[in-house]
Amino acid sequence: MNAPDLAWYSHEMCFWHDPGPGSGYVPVGPGVEPLRQFAVDPDLRRAQGLVEVSGVLDRYTRVTPAPASDEDLLLVHVPEHIDRVEAASASGGGDAGVYAQVNYHSAQAARLAAGAAVQAAEQVLDGRFGRAYCLVRPPGHHAEPDRAMALCLYNNVAVAARAAQRRGARRVMILDWDVHHGNGIQRVFYDDPDVLYVSIHQDGLFPAASGLLRETGAGAGTGSTLNVPLPPGTGHDAYLAAVGRIVEPAARAFRPELILVAAGVDASGHDPMGRMLCTSRTFHAMTSALCRLADELAGGRIVFVHEGGYSAWYQPMLVLGTASAIAGLPAPQDPFLHALDHLPGQRLQRHQARVLEHLEARHPLLAGHPAAAGTGGGGAGG
Ligand SMILES: [Zn+2]
Repeated sequence: MNAPDLAWYSHEMCFWHDPGPGSGYVPVGPGVEPLRQFAVDPDLRRAQGLVEVSGVLDRYTRVTPAPASDEDLLLVHVPEHIDRVEAASASGGGDAGVYAQVNYHSAQAARLAAGAAVQAAEQVLDGRFGRAYCLVRPPGHHAEPDRAMALCLYNNVAVAARAAQRRGARRVMILDWDVHHGNGIQRVFYDDPDVLYVSIHQDGLFPAASGLLRETGAGAGTGSTLNVPLPPGTGHDAYLAAVGRIVEPAARAFRPELILVAAGVDASGHDPMGRMLCTSRTFHAMTSALCRLADELAGGRIVFVHEGGYSAWYQPMLVLGTASAIAGLPAPQDPFLHALDHLPGQRLQRHQARVLEHLEARHPLLAGHPAAAGTGGGGAGG
């Protein structure tokens, strides 16, 4: 079997975006002495550095993306939103929405991040590449059509999904394994039967009361939203069970022509923003499973777009785990693994399994579907 051609989209300007002075994720203000924000994007350059030094980046064709055009962004966003982002950035800083601090370079970085996702989706659809990874910032999945939110300016993955449809793909599946719920992606596609949005996230983390089990889509899109809210402390086995028992049967029922992954790495056990326990092995295993799923259902067409990830020291290893799996290489040697892989939460526990059982029994795309009962491929749904 021929190995797929791989593409790696990144741009130095994405690392120049910086949410400004703060501490953790809170901007400087009463009671907040300046330290550093978690989302310091030069940290992401270290991730690319490790992928390069490891030799894994040699397996990819490196692509310098062009900025997304207004026409691209307007597939998802209203013009006033674009104006607000541009104005906040041009003024040198400030909040472009809700907890969406920008600096002078942010508007350009955000256009490049969205542009990378659009071009990756288009070039994979055109057959130029089989699989792609976009190492971009700012992230996108919280951004709504009319407002920036929580570090996200433009919704990179949502814009890419619409661009893919513009290119002729009818059904697009988005899997979002960022530790936070992708409220922005969900909102864009909530009543759209042609885009399946699946999110695996920490229950109740952010936004509050978003990404609930009962949020399954509306109108013609009923069943095309699927939330897997897992409890804090969830690790490797439960994440893989969520992929095997929920994501895979849902994908077989939906039959996507392209898979997009909102590939945040903030569900790791060393991340300061989440309380989950994933490791480089988890991201390697989930990525491998999704690539196999794309081979089975979507002609191999799959695009990974970076989202959150806030551990300065562990994020590079997590990106390397993902990039290695896309390239069909084994999981990397991980010097940080020993602090995480023995924890009891790495095994599937009863309170985690109950979430999966609820979805298997109740979600419109899974309940009663043969794949949900473990008997293999789908064909219904859509
Ligand atoms: Zn996140």
